[in-house]
Amino acid sequence: MAQYDVIVIGSGPGGYVAAIRCAQLGLKTACVEGRETLGGTCLNVGCIPSKALLHASHQLHEAEENFAKMGLKGKAPSVDWKQMLAYKDDVIGQNTKGIEFLFKKNKIDWIKGWASIPEAGKVTVGDETYETKNIIVASGSAAASVPGAEVEIDEKVVVTSTGALELPKVPKKMVVIGAGVIGLEMGSVYKRLGSEVTVIEFLDTITPTMDIEVQRSFKKLLGKQGLEFTLGAAVSKVETKGGKATVTYKLRKDDSEHSVDADVVLVATGRKPYTDGLGLDALGIETTKGGQIKTDGHWATNVKGIYAIGDAIDGPMLAHKAEDEGMACAEVIAGKAGHVNYNVIPSVIYTHPEVASVGATEQELKDAGKAYKVGKFSFMGNGRAKAVFAGDGFVKILADKETDRILGCHIIGPSAGDLIHEVCVAMEYGGSAEDLALTCHAHPTFSEAVREAALACGDGAIHA
Ligand code: FAD
Repeated sequence: MAQYDVIVIGSGPGGYVAAIRCAQLGLKTACVEGRETLGGTCLNVGCIPSKALLHASHQLHEAEENFAKMGLKGKAPSVDWKQMLAYKDDVIGQNTKGIEFLFKKNKIDWIKGWASIPEAGKVTVGDETYETKNIIVASGSAAASVPGAEVEIDEKVVVTSTGALELPKVPKKMVVIGAGVIGLEMGSVYKRLGSEVTVIEFLDTITPTMDIEVQRSFKKLLGKQGLEFTLGAAVSKVETKGGKATVTYKLRKDDSEHSVDADVVLVATGRKPYTDGLGLDALGIETTKGGQIKTDGHWATNVKGIYAIGDAIDGPMLAHKAEDEGMACAEVIAGKAGHVNYNVIPSVIYTHPEVASVGATEQELKDAGKAYKVGKFSFMGNGRAKAVFAGDGFVKILADKETDRILGCHIIGPSAGDLIHEVCVAMEYGGSAEDLALTCHAHPTFSEAVREAALACGDGAIHA
């Protein structure tokens, strides 16, 4: 029976990063993965394939909308969907193979199959049971269905994001249930590829956790791109017949019932922790009502020697949050001081324009009665953005009224997902808006808009 210091269950961004850090810290490590390939949801059916399709469809949009304006004339490219899927699969393959390489490099054993935990200190996969001093559960999450509605997911006509990443053809009409990150990203992809896309959302806003100004601007910009929204609508059922679907919903404002037909319905109403088959109940591991594994501040469950990280525990279901927990948990197991600053976890939507945020929203500061100031700068005042047809959107920095310390930042605009990180670094160091404003930013870059927003927290932006 093999003896390990650590067995990690699941090879998503939480699990594989934890395994690599454990090995780097000198712990004998194995990682169990039930899927055929490493990398979890993120690399196989999540972040990476969705970004490949977002990239490809954005290139088409640029060709159709902007090439002629720049004097690039000629026929716009047409969509070879099979080839686009092959490109996406190639990107997945390169990334999952990359994790395989890193496992070999770090001498991590990849145990193939589905794991269960018969008791603390043991992990069973198939007929084998492995002994280990520590177990890290990084089993991730699965798509949730529509609460209170009759919906059967067949991954053909009624799909989750997994099915939406490999549809046999671009649908003429797509209905997306849920105006969260995944629904809007995939909705954007298909809209750009020529589908008619309607997004049905229970709440009266899209992306409800985002700053309200960003939400409004984002909805307007997506609307301009042709996405249609039905907000404040509770879906009651989705029926399929002859390869098509009908979605029935009630408008919450007047209880009136409506229905809409679609070739494909994407259910994007969130994700739930996935812990099936691990045997958590028999072990007495505490979970929340929503199925998340309960952990303390050091990712330890209530059973000694068993830890949990990533989507399977509390907090935002994001790959980088899982990665940070993976590294920190490995460090705790190795006797070091692992730490994750949950106040500085950026969140990004990879549509065009991108949306990114970190820290508090303005509403949260208002609700907390905190005295704050706002510095805002429009990308219309940024020369680089105007040159590349990306003047829509703005940077908004929220800083403490007294101390000027940065409390939050919300960006909608070009490369928002990259721009947010200078604010993250500033926040990690307890930086002020003035710190950003006094930092020289190269011209012409989108990042000058971040500096201008920081200047707007003080004596004023220059180009506003
Ligand atoms: P996962 O990545 O879900 O990995 C868990 C792994 O554990 C799986 O491979 C599973 O097969 C395996 N497993 C489970 N149980 C067992 C068992 N008993 N035995 C063996 N193996 C097991 N996040 C971002 O930050 N940015 C994005 O752009 C982004 N885009 C996304 C797009 C889509 C379409 C989706 C669905 C998600 C996206 N996410 C994104 C979320 C991100 O994918 C997750 O937050 C992240 O993958 C969570 O990592 P994890 O390691 O906790 O779990």
